[in-house]
Amino acid sequence: MSNLGIEQVRARIAQACARAGRPVESVKLVAVSKRQSPDAVRALAEAGVELFGESRAQEARQKIPLCPGDLTWHMIGHIQRNKVRDIVRLFSYVHSVDSLRLLEALDGAAAEAGKTLSVLLEVNVSGEGSKFGFVPDEVPAVLERCGSLMNLDVAGLMTIPPFTPEPAEARPHFARLRELRDTWREATGFPLDELSMGMSHDFEVAIEEGATWIRLGTILFGDRE
Ligand SMILES: *Cc1c(COP(=O)(O)O)cnc(C)c1O
Repeated sequence: MSNLGIEQVRARIAQACARAGRPVESVKLVAVSKRQSPDAVRALAEAGVELFGESRAQEARQKIPLCPGDLTWHMIGHIQRNKVRDIVRLFSYVHSVDSLRLLEALDGAAAEAGKTLSVLLEVNVSGEGSKFGFVPDEVPAVLERCGSLMNLDVAGLMTIPPFTPEPAEARPHFARLRELRDTWREATGFPLDELSMGMSHDFEVAIEEGATWIRLGTILFGDRE
């Protein structure tokens, strides 16, 4: 896939919002800069992009200090528990929390650092797709446990549907995450406002199904190194 200019991407986001009857401010773009250079990050920052996503702690540790200092970093990849201190230091949001032990480790590291970390629970909606994520049945109990993790703020849910060449095939997975969110919101009292779903090839479908954060890499930066 080759990249589009940021203005073209913004226009497609706006069109998808219009189709869904949603205000364009309700969808936030996270530019996924994994395997892209600090210069590429700087160029998008100069075009007004403020939120960036990385998927590996080690790469982030090297890259983030070389990028403009006023950006907000989102961790979107699977995390090993021995990396939680780095994660808390480098990132404001973690989209990819996929186990209770990781939640507890992040809370501990955030407490040590005197910070509050915002997290999303990754949900494996389809039972295939991403091999990471909570199965839906586990989530209510996990949310209950989150109520006593004082250094975490549970912002919402994230999912990665199975890859299908046809973006429309992702629609039921996105719709399912939204429905689960509505159910869990009702049952637990957690607002779970943020739905992180949609990547370069399926973000328009995700917006139509309620995404508040879309994670776009290739369509913004071109192919990864
Ligand atoms: C790499 C990655 C993305 C971006 O993928 P593109 O197809 O390049 O837009 C989004 N989310 C996660 C979790 C990723 O690992």
